[in-house]
Amino acid sequence: MSILVTRSSMPSFEEYCEEIKDLWESHWLTNMGIKHQLFQKQLEDFLECPHVALYTNGHLALENSIASMNFPNGAEVITTPFTFVSTTHAIVRNSLTPIFCDIKPDDFTIDPEKIETLITERTVAIVPVHVYGNICDIDAIESIAKKHNLKVIYDAAHSFGEKYKGVSTANFGDASVFSFHATKVFNTIEGGAVCFKDDNLISILNDMKNFGIRDAENVVYVGGNAKMSEFQAAMGICNLRHIKTEIEKRKNVAERYRCNLNGVKGIKLCEPKDNAIYNYAYFPVAFDGYDTNRDNILLELKKNDIIARKYFYPLTSDLQCYKHLSSANNNKTPIATYWSDRILTLPMYADLCLEDVDRICKIVIQKNSTF
Ligand SMILES: *Cc1c(COP(=O)(O)O)cnc(C)c1O
Repeated sequence: MSILVTRSSMPSFEEYCEEIKDLWESHWLTNMGIKHQLFQKQLEDFLECPHVALYTNGHLALENSIASMNFPNGAEVITTPFTFVSTTHAIVRNSLTPIFCDIKPDDFTIDPEKIETLITERTVAIVPVHVYGNICDIDAIESIAKKHNLKVIYDAAHSFGEKYKGVSTANFGDASVFSFHATKVFNTIEGGAVCFKDDNLISILNDMKNFGIRDAENVVYVGGNAKMSEFQAAMGICNLRHIKTEIEKRKNVAERYRCNLNGVKGIKLCEPKDNAIYNYAYFPVAFDGYDTNRDNILLELKKNDIIARKYFYPLTSDLQCYKHLSSANNNKTPIATYWSDRILTLPMYADLCLEDVDRICKIVIQKNSTF
């Protein structure tokens, strides 16, 4: 049987049916119904964050969180090219200019030391990504933002349930945005949320996802439609009941990978930070020291019906729609360019069995040693 790179977590069929049963009483399927309200409250508690605005997906949550800050057209936003394309799209679709910043070689998150060199009088914000669930250097980013009066919007799509120094990653920056896509650690089928502390953003973020409608006769923003439905919220309510055990199971998988791969010549793993609680969203492995090794390992795994992914290759700055930008120059992001040629994320999900992890590692090690 083939092993895919991920597998969605689901409650039992009976549990989901039980949760959606009352929707057949109410006939209220979307527009911030009781499931939406309950799920929002549960997330505010779980993520230990004062405000959560639920969205139909993570991308629109990110796009709207940036829109809510009212930046002038063409202003510059410093961000990482080592991410899923949604991050860059969310900036550009707000008529802002992404300025690609290099990453750190140890955890692949944006390099704060390089952020400062990119700040101009047009810079308005930083959009870092907790890539793979590796928590950004939030202290350094916060102090740069304070010093230069910049907003920080974290793409926290990979970071659900994580903490740094005891603080939930939902609380960092001016906003932190999660994705609850089917492939993420925690899912609502499709879904996402903006988490924030500023009371002034509550009505903006809630109105913007509903056409900018404040009440029956007042439309106050040029909003779109990005509401989370009752069925998505119900999935969230069910999956949230099991999130602790799901993350615990992922942790066992990650430890098994580590056990097999740690110290193998030419293989580099991310070292966890002290003071951090992780969600084990992905298992990235960097193949260093052997040219073109990564693609051969990907193929060898595929021959064995095991699907790994080149996350994140190409860099978003290398994509056809962004290559023309002046900051989209691989020479300006050499570390991101280097590692995006060498990384694979191996299969990672709660129900991946440890014998399969051993088998995957055996193939990886065998192929790796033939170079
Ligand atoms: C998944 C993801 C998104 C987009 O989330 P969707 O819920 O799929 O719209 C944004 N950024 C990153 C880094 C992601 O991995």
